[in-house]
Amino acid sequence: MLTGKTALVTGGAKGIGRAIALKIAAAHGNVAIMYHGSQEKAQETITQLQALGVKAQSYQCDVSDFTATKALVAQVIKDFGGLDILVNNAGITNDKLLLAMKEEDFDSVINTNLKGAFNMTKHVGSYLLKQRKGRIINISSVSGLMGNVGQCNYAAAKAGLIGLTKSTAKEMAIRGVTCNAIAPGFIDTDMTKTLKTEIKEEILKQIPLKRLGQADDIANLCVYLSSDLSGYITGEVIKVDGGLYI
Ligand code: NDP
Repeated sequence: MLTGKTALVTGGAKGIGRAIALKIAAAHGNVAIMYHGSQEKAQETITQLQALGVKAQSYQCDVSDFTATKALVAQVIKDFGGLDILVNNAGITNDKLLLAMKEEDFDSVINTNLKGAFNMTKHVGSYLLKQRKGRIINISSVSGLMGNVGQCNYAAAKAGLIGLTKSTAKEMAIRGVTCNAIAPGFIDTDMTKTLKTEIKEEILKQIPLKRLGQADDIANLCVYLSSDLSGYITGEVIKVDGGLYI
């Protein structure tokens, strides 16, 4: 389905990003992953990707660093001989009630989750526009649609990512580049492992499908949005949340 295509996945060493990288590789796409701190996990992921028979390489970078991301994108395009798909998946949480939240708690989440996606979209977007085709997929969150107690920084960043998605979709459509967002609900990864059991039980009561999502639930949609099958879909925000938002 993705034969001959190359994808760049931010935060691709683990969790949802790793699942996305592996599903893209299973669909025969080549994959560059960007990691920040998880060097060992990045290497593990590369080994798994190469076992699927595709070209795969990892790159260390801080997604919030405008200059470093510009150099990284240029390097990926050079190493792979092109780029077709960008998945803005890197993200962090730093949960606190608004009145307890420090300025730096707010800034760090906005800088990684929102500015990071802007940086990558700008650097990759200029290349995709020139080649007159490409796919950009942003991993937002239902928190960005619903808000969430303790997540004013995260919800603001993820809501901002939806605005970035829709504006990018409008600007880039004329050159055949689509941009869509996925809004996951609660997915079983390191990000949600730290939640207390009673909070998890409370969350499960609110999910009609009565289970946390798996990283593959997000990755499956991401592959579809990366492929030619989704060529007439742009500016969409698709929830993958077991019905939580209904
Ligand atoms: P993880 O914590 O497992 O993964 C987060 C990834 O983001 C890591 O690979 C990490 O890289 C990367 N990252 C963090 N900061 C930076 C940075 N400054 N520069 C580059 N990469 C960075 O969480 P998930 O897999 O669950 O999250 C993936 C995405 O899905 C996030 O955007 C998250 O907000 C979103 N999401 C997750 C939900 C969930 O329930 N799990 C729900 C809704 C959305 P490294 O480890 O190398 O530092």
